[in-house]
Amino acid sequence: MIYHKVLVVGGGLAGMRAAIAVSEHYTNVALLTKIYPVRSHSGAAQGGINGALCNNPRGLHDSCERHGFDTIKGSDFLADQKASMLLTAEAPKRIRELEHWGCPFDRTEEGKIAQRPFGGAGFPRTCYAADKTGHVILHVLYEQLVKHEIKTYNEWMVTKLVVEDGICRGVIAMELLTGKLHPIMAEAVIFTTGGSGRSYGVTTNARTSTGLGMAIPYMEGIPLKDMEFVQFHPTTLVGSNILMTEGCRGEGGYLKNKLGERFMQKYAPDFMELAPRDIVSRCITTEILEGRGFDNSYVHLDLTHLGAHKIITRLPGIREICINFKGIDPITQPIPIQPGMHYFMGGIDCNIDCATDVPGFYAAGECACVSVHGANRLGGNSLLETVVFGAIAGEKAVKYIEGKKDARKGEKALNSALEQQESKINNLLNNQGKEKMPDITKEMSETMLKKVGVFRKKDELKAALDKIKELIQRYKNLGLLNKNRKCNQELMWALELEGNLLVDETVVAGALVREESRGSHSRTDFPKRDDKNWLKHTVATYSSDGVKLSYKEVDTSIYEPVERKY
Ligand SMILES: Cc1cc2nc3c(=O)[nH]c(=O)nc-3n(C[C@H](O)[C@H](O)[C@H](O)COP(=O)(O)OP(=O)(O)OC[C@H]3O[C@@H](n4cnc5c(N)ncnc54)[C@H](O)[C@@H]3O)c2cc1C
Repeated sequence: MIYHKVLVVGGGLAGMRAAIAVSEHYTNVALLTKIYPVRSHSGAAQGGINGALCNNPRGLHDSCERHGFDTIKGSDFLADQKASMLLTAEAPKRIRELEHWGCPFDRTEEGKIAQRPFGGAGFPRTCYAADKTGHVILHVLYEQLVKHEIKTYNEWMVTKLVVEDGICRGVIAMELLTGKLHPIMAEAVIFTTGGSGRSYGVTTNARTSTGLGMAIPYMEGIPLKDMEFVQFHPTTLVGSNILMTEGCRGEGGYLKNKLGERFMQKYAPDFMELAPRDIVSRCITTEILEGRGFDNSYVHLDLTHLGAHKIITRLPGIREICINFKGIDPITQPIPIQPGMHYFMGGIDCNIDCATDVPGFYAAGECACVSVHGANRLGGNSLLETVVFGAIAGEKAVKYIEGKKDARKGEKALNSALEQQESKINNLLNNQGKEKMPDITKEMSETMLKKVGVFRKKDELKAALDKIKELIQRYKNLGLLNKNRKCNQELMWALELEGNLLVDETVVAGALVREESRGSHSRTDFPKRDDKNWLKHTVATYSSDGVKLSYKEVDTSIYEPVERKY
């Protein structure tokens, strides 16, 4: 049986950073990923990574504390405050580490790492490499992965987590090329499987960002936290919903309605276009709903006043996407944009050490909910979370193993899990069911987008929950066309679809019950934040007859929650 001291699942930024941290202590660490590491969604990140480096002349009085406060205020006070402060305190160290490893950040004239303004931030503190920040960091970490000679299982997909007597023993993974299932024993497993954007269908996220990574531990009884908080990015390109980075507004871009008004003036006079994402998304949606959008569906992101030089040097990727996907050049034409699903604030419930309730099982990056972002994440804080908490997860897993007495246990549990997965996959392949994957996927996407979007209300959420439950039942009757085990993408997508549906159920159930508006969760029937009843984390636990909800305290030990104004 394959054995590793630590197995990291996921090859994005969080996964590679975690594996590097472990490799400083143990050589027997492996990283397993369903796609090649450098193809992970992290590589699509455009705008940048936050840290109070104070390199921008307008950011001289910035500090880690101030960054922490902005993060907590941005979260609408649902973030666990010590966790947010840890995130921001570690930021300068982790960003300089990337720089020392060769990350080609853009520079100021004095040669320091350049920083641009981003939403909800009091100072310009977002470090960037043009509009390809995720891509460069991903490659820098990959070089470190190679340098540390970390064993990788590329194009292997985990289908199950193995927990025996409440302790994590390893995983079952499918080698995608052959379709063969393997049990992998590990003293500690770290999940870094990324976001679940595809559970919404229409999203800025890659096809590979599905709910399966969150659903696997969920099905083993590890809860998901704060799943109703789903970020809609204000500016996605109409048609394809490809992201137009917040960096466009950070560099000075305007949002304009069809009357040519910079409408943010009405809603957030101090921060204007750089108010936090939840607020800007609601403002754009309101403009459209009240008839001031174009074709009742979009507004303009106008960069034309920035000049060709700035656009070509700072936003080359954005320009290329606009030309290739929309046939417009942002140097001379405004970009048609609308809000689009972008990020999950919620995820696998874990603490500030990235540890879950199951000893030996850790989570970091977008799939995890340490709760640094609360009800709304600030742009640039997610890349930061991957490197800060990726490293922490790796270090804590090492510490856990050092204190562990029962090494190389769980062979029986792994073998029986293997048998169970074999029969699950055979059943899926041999099922003669009438349901087709594209139909279920389409109905799921439409439901999530139309009924669980920027604005939410009771009857629509109720209808969405009924629909998702219906789709979960219909999934059991799924008939696949390709019955082969080798390289069967349809099989892979079917497993991912199950994950998407389970994740969606937690999102809708949490949103239906939470009768208040906080951060990204905006209820038209309960428009106010209600700290008395709802200043608490939602905890969603799996049961065979649907999700069960409970609640958990929020750490507000540093700042008193106050009304959020921008
Ligand atoms: C278009 C876009 C732009 C963004 N821009 C920014 C930005 O400028 N700044 C910012 O801070 N944030 C940004 N974000 C958010 C940020 O990029 C992500 O939250 C972050 O990169 C996630 O990193 P990760 O390591 O957690 O996951 P990912 O990079 O998504 O990696 C997940 C990994 O898990 C693997 N995996 C998943 N499931 C399985 C499985 N079952 N078995 C095996 N492997 C599996 C995948 O193969 C992949 O390697 C952006 C996001 C998007 C979509």
